[in-house]
Amino acid sequence: MSRVAVIGAGVAGLAVAGLLARDGHEVTVYEKNSRVGGRAGTIERDGFRFDSGPSWYLMPEVFDHFFTMMGTTTAEQLDLTVLDPGYRVFREPREDGAPSASVTVPSGRAAVTELFESREPGSTRALDAYLDSAHEARTMAEKYFLYNPFTRLRTLTSPEVLRALPRLLSLLGTRLQSFAARRFRDPVLRQILGYPAVFLGTDPRSAPAMYHLMSALDLDEGVSYPQGGFWRVVERIADLARTAGATIVTDADVTAIRTRDSGGERVASGIEWRDAEGVLHRDDADIVVSGADLHHTETRLLPPELRTYPESWWDRRTSGPGAVLVMLGVRGSLPELPHHSLFFTDDWDANFDAIFGDHPAIPSPASTYVCRPSATDETVAPPDHENLFVLVPIPADTDLGGGGSDGAGSPLIEEAADAAIDLISRWAGIDDLRERIVVRETKGPADFRDDYNSWRGGMLGPAHILSQSAMFRAQNASRRVAGLYYAGGTTAPGVGVPMCLISAEIVLKRIRGDHSSGPLAETTLTTPTPVS
Ligand SMILES: Cc1cc2nc3c(=O)[nH]c(=O)nc-3n(C[C@H](O)[C@H](O)[C@H](O)COP(=O)(O)OP(=O)(O)OC[C@H]3O[C@@H](n4cnc5c(N)ncnc54)[C@H](O)[C@@H]3O)c2cc1C
Repeated sequence: MSRVAVIGAGVAGLAVAGLLARDGHEVTVYEKNSRVGGRAGTIERDGFRFDSGPSWYLMPEVFDHFFTMMGTTTAEQLDLTVLDPGYRVFREPREDGAPSASVTVPSGRAAVTELFESREPGSTRALDAYLDSAHEARTMAEKYFLYNPFTRLRTLTSPEVLRALPRLLSLLGTRLQSFAARRFRDPVLRQILGYPAVFLGTDPRSAPAMYHLMSALDLDEGVSYPQGGFWRVVERIADLARTAGATIVTDADVTAIRTRDSGGERVASGIEWRDAEGVLHRDDADIVVSGADLHHTETRLLPPELRTYPESWWDRRTSGPGAVLVMLGVRGSLPELPHHSLFFTDDWDANFDAIFGDHPAIPSPASTYVCRPSATDETVAPPDHENLFVLVPIPADTDLGGGGSDGAGSPLIEEAADAAIDLISRWAGIDDLRERIVVRETKGPADFRDDYNSWRGGMLGPAHILSQSAMFRAQNASRRVAGLYYAGGTTAPGVGVPMCLISAEIVLKRIRGDHSSGPLAETTLTTPTPVS
């Protein structure tokens, strides 16, 4: 049994704590904020409960595997509701100002095929081939890439990988946008196939076509919602970690990772942290796992000579987007909006250029995502009210400012929030949306920096372009300090709650010296703890 210090109680830190505690280690998690969850945050106000982070429950099999590893099941932990429709796409109004027809994406392959046929007659075969290919790519990714610590080359030279190599190379060498454009002509269908790149912190013109695997989820398997929102998911993961024996300390700001010399090698020996009263503590540990943003861990918690990823390394990296988040409590009902809505601008290249190009600026008009969890969950808003979460991807730039309550944020962030409200109102035909707002909370890049020590105030971390994906992404262990490991969306395998759960498992594998490429067998945790 080792003493393990975990920095940060985001999804990754909590998942690491649970898996390592269940594997017999003595685990303490140190979280700088007064609540757990990190970017998967929550804001409660006037009877509304807003999720301020994730809202799409993707890769359900990854959650299933994690919960099984923790001695339980998804069904025991979460109450999932399949959303039908999956989501709706709103488009720019017509020239006379009237709303354009929206496109509703139904649940399940058969219904999605009908939608594709209605927009592009004869597209059924292309869609079938696209979705089959997406499933195949996902199976390969889960078996050989996502759970792979990349500590043994031979895991990538299995006969199955070698057989698939030409296809894999082609999927890595092609961009998602052109991959979809080669198969479908309709501009909205192309957008539907391209937008998952944004989940990965990038743009469809830069994301490798390998990521068309995301379409297997929203267009085939269907989209689910965990009742209680993502806050419930975080609560369950935190409870499982505690039940497995981990201790979670909040208001514990880690200020340094401590190391010692061991036969000429630097070895992790613990952490220094400051409590809410400003008192400095030094705790010993045999293993340190940082679930905090990797840029912060490497450039603030380690001295220069012990950095695997120093500032000069980050200077050459591409951040995913920042975000303006707008959480709205709205009086009355909003039947115009299903649970998930995507507002796509016609000129989507201009939109992505504004976010990722050489002259970054808040896009105008901006493609926008809106979640109405109150469509599915009556606990997130008071009776006769709706809960809206609005996400506008913008450049990752802390100079754009932060948000506040009821319009008190930085001018640029509040202007972008106002523009998003007007856009939703016009495009979805909800004329009185602004007048019906009773609660308004906003967040911007400066909040991501202050709240989570996020690199450049980005909402997700490094973008999933090819040079920042799989074995090319920052890996899960320090090369300078033995016993120091990294988990979370800013490391491998990458962005998103399922990926964070996988990164936690990679840390477990690294500590065990397990070099295998796929998920661990679900019976291998040595100290099964009864879970209530
Ligand atoms: C707006 C938004 C929408 C998203 N939508 C989705 C979605 O729909 N589906 C999906 O799957 N994913 C989504 N994501 C991505 C997903 O939420 C993240 O990838 C994931 O939550 C990141 O978790 P993490 O544990 O890696 O990092 P974090 O959540 O950043 O956790 C790191 C923790 O470390 C703490 N910390 C930092 N520094 C220190 C320190 N020095 N001492 C102590 N503690 C420290 C932080 O306070 C934080 O709690 C979204 C993210 C955002 C922001």
